Amino acid sequence: MSALSTTASISSKPVPHGAPSPLVQRLGVLPMPNLEWTPEVERETAHIYARVQHVIPSVEWPFHAPYIAAINRLKKERNAVILAHNYQTPEIFHGVADIVGDSLQLARKATEVDADIIVQCGVHFMAETSKLLNPEKTILIPDTRAGCSLAASITGADVRLLKQRYPGVPVVTYVNSSADVKAETDVCCTSSNAVQIVESLGVDRVIFLPDEYLGKYVASKTKVKLILWKDHCEVHERFSGEELRAYREADPSIEIIAHPECPPDVLAEADFTGSTAHMIDWVKTGNHKRVLMVTECSMASNVAAEAPEVDFIRPCNLCPHMKRITLPKILDSLVYLRDEVIVDPAIADKARASVERMIALGR
Ligand code: SF4
Repeated sequence: MSALSTTASISSKPVPHGAPSPLVQRLGVLPMPNLEWTPEVERETAHIYARVQHVIPSVEWPFHAPYIAAINRLKKERNAVILAHNYQTPEIFHGVADIVGDSLQLARKATEVDADIIVQCGVHFMAETSKLLNPEKTILIPDTRAGCSLAASITGADVRLLKQRYPGVPVVTYVNSSADVKAETDVCCTSSNAVQIVESLGVDRVIFLPDEYLGKYVASKTKVKLILWKDHCEVHERFSGEELRAYREADPSIEIIAHPECPPDVLAEADFTGSTAHMIDWVKTGNHKRVLMVTECSMASNVAAEAPEVDFIRPCNLCPHMKRITLPKILDSLVYLRDEVIVDPAIADKARASVERMIALGR
């Protein structure tokens, strides 16, 4: 089946810059902190630098550290927490995040957070998911342009057309999708639990959206027949089996681990395939010497910071959407309270139900 549409679907509306938002009117703007590199900042951030010294050169630290110190102070002042996806850069992931993980871990942890404000360091659909699960909390995203090519490949209207074409067939949707699409979905999944979710429905056929390669991987692990949407993650689809064979020829001792969003010829070369969380577990629990990590570039850096004994080879494909989130933008988010993510109430309840079903099935 070919994709019916490639129209982007952004269902939540960030508060525009300019006029003070209701949130700013209620909580106010804070003074911009001093951002000089001082002995005090150096002392305050020394324990963080000890963790990231393998992946952040010392010459860069005086640029990051004043932001990290200021953001960590402002979080307390605002009663805010920072959720950061594994694909965030090490200075964010290790420097200011309170909760880190893949999409499923962040979705679960978002429901346990005891704070007024969540700053989502990830892409827009992740901030929407946090809002769905925390309707009473304020969700901020430091850059509203942090989208996702995969999430933008399908709309709620497309899903309604698919449901007309395959009446009665349940829809399983990867969380990398807009709230608009989640609202048309029976149950969401992540790359960690996709096989389990598909099989939990007890049917012989499901519509699986929107990542075709993840769908093919799931199809290889189950007897359930999957109706797929032909779109891919623009980061993972750039890897190729040929590239991995070249690495293996240069060093036959390397172990290759890959994310299931990669094309089938890449997964055929991998010694282990798993979600970002599963890859981290695999690296930390085994006795591995040289590992080629086939996923987004910062994820490999973040794991490398925690497993300095492993020699990582990182064929670097960056997600340009994730990289829109930076320390200066996170600081602005906390100072100016922008940008608030609000999900359209007309779709929020249905979208929330599909995420909550996934979380319940995973327990
Ligand atoms: S890595 Fe791929 S799926 Fe994840 S946010 Fe970037 S484009 Fe979307």
